[in-house]
Amino acid sequence: MDPWSESEGKRAHDPIFQSFNRNQNHCQPVENCCKERSMDAVVALSERCTCIWVSGPIIVGAGPSGLAVAACLKEKGIGSLILERSNCIASLWQLKTYDRLSLHLPRQFCELPLMPFPADYPIYPSKQQFIAYLESYAARFGICPTYNRTVVHAEYDEQLLLWRVKTRASGKMGEEVEYVSRWLIAATGENAEAVQPAIDGLQEFEGTVLHTSAYKSGSTFAGKRVLVVGCGNSGMEVHVLPREMLGLSTFGLSMLLLKWLPVHVVDRILLLIARAMLGDTARLGLKRPTFGPLELKSLSGKTPVLDVGTFAKIKSGDIKIRPAIRHISGREVKFLEGQSEEFDAIVLATGYRSNVPCWLKDRELFSDQDGLPRKAFPNGWKGEKGLYSVGFTRRGLMGTSVDARRIAHDIEQQLKSQGLHPDVFL
Ligand SMILES: Cc1cc2nc3c(=O)[nH]c(=O)nc-3n(C[C@H](O)[C@H](O)[C@H](O)COP(=O)(O)OP(=O)(O)OC[C@H]3O[C@@H](n4cnc5c(N)ncnc54)[C@H](O)[C@@H]3O)c2cc1C
Repeated sequence: MDPWSESEGKRAHDPIFQSFNRNQNHCQPVENCCKERSMDAVVALSERCTCIWVSGPIIVGAGPSGLAVAACLKEKGIGSLILERSNCIASLWQLKTYDRLSLHLPRQFCELPLMPFPADYPIYPSKQQFIAYLESYAARFGICPTYNRTVVHAEYDEQLLLWRVKTRASGKMGEEVEYVSRWLIAATGENAEAVQPAIDGLQEFEGTVLHTSAYKSGSTFAGKRVLVVGCGNSGMEVHVLPREMLGLSTFGLSMLLLKWLPVHVVDRILLLIARAMLGDTARLGLKRPTFGPLELKSLSGKTPVLDVGTFAKIKSGDIKIRPAIRHISGREVKFLEGQSEEFDAIVLATGYRSNVPCWLKDRELFSDQDGLPRKAFPNGWKGEKGLYSVGFTRRGLMGTSVDARRIAHDIEQQLKSQGLHPDVFL
């Protein structure tokens, strides 16, 4: 029997569904989320609105990836429901990034599917421009996420043949709503949680400590001695490359060369040009890793820093490089090589991690270790039983676009193969 019909049959006898009533006023957050809401035939509501069946896919996360997949589905006539823990779209960009951030890659590599950036945008749009683009993207496709809903548990119910997605209202302990759907799309991002390393004595540091996710601008620290911990993406990267080479964006040049040359040859070319432009970075304390920038990226996901001025500040001595921290005491930081210095503030540029293993009870698509798909791009977008991932490719927004299109196509094919017109899900 077709699993969907079978599950519908099972639902008729399931206590969860029997306890539902159809008084939709009990479910304000979903019903009122948007007048032109495209998602979601909400067909079953419990008395206290604790369980809602969503006829289209449930997407967890309203960042660029969640928006991209909702738009691709919408284009095919398939509605969806986005659950978002914060109170806005693209919360990483709106709430957790610094003021003067702009896209690291040229805009043609950062567009979401189906809608280009406005023609008057610069090559590297600012954070504000990117957010404005995402706002108009959501508006254009009628995407209205359900905000302040943190997904705390999602599990496939083998009897219902449906995903059961438990959420908690952000900030209000105890108010739980469960959503049920045939499809679940994880779009919570590679950067969902700030990583705070265990550093001996950090808890007792007598100055200010903050993670880069809370850093907005250097003006707060004017005149202060600041230690930036980490050479990750938010601080500095192990490989430093100029943002542009030979009149092209370094990223664009790499893509171009990779069409004809193997990765290790492209890496050698990039490093030769970087050496000619920046000099020997090791002399300033930035040792280059054994693997070239592209090889390192594909092996470990570590993105090279595309320098827009930091390197000049290192050269001029405004930024000094220190080895790893051994111990912190009061305001004094002792480094591995023995020297110590006093600081007023510590900024942890120690990166982010995925939070999927905390809420998704499925260990086949995602790895427990790093919360990323077990299979590398381009094979990590689809799991079993209607489970998908978007935006975990280590390839930024370009990877997101590829995933989003594939997922929408796959779900459309499933509907078509069952003789269902996608529009029934609008
Ligand atoms: C500083 C910075 C600059 C970047 N610049 C570029 C660039 O120039 N080009 C590029 O291609 N890429 C760039 N990236 C990488 C990547 O494209 C972005 O991180 C992008 O925001 C990823 O989108 P996303 O939707 O996958 O994840 P996010 O933007 O992180 O969105 C995930 C959403 O899921 C929500 N969420 C998480 N957990 C839950 C939960 N349990 N329940 C409900 N909601 C949840 C979050 O609140 C968030 O809104 C950059 C990343 C950073 C950090």
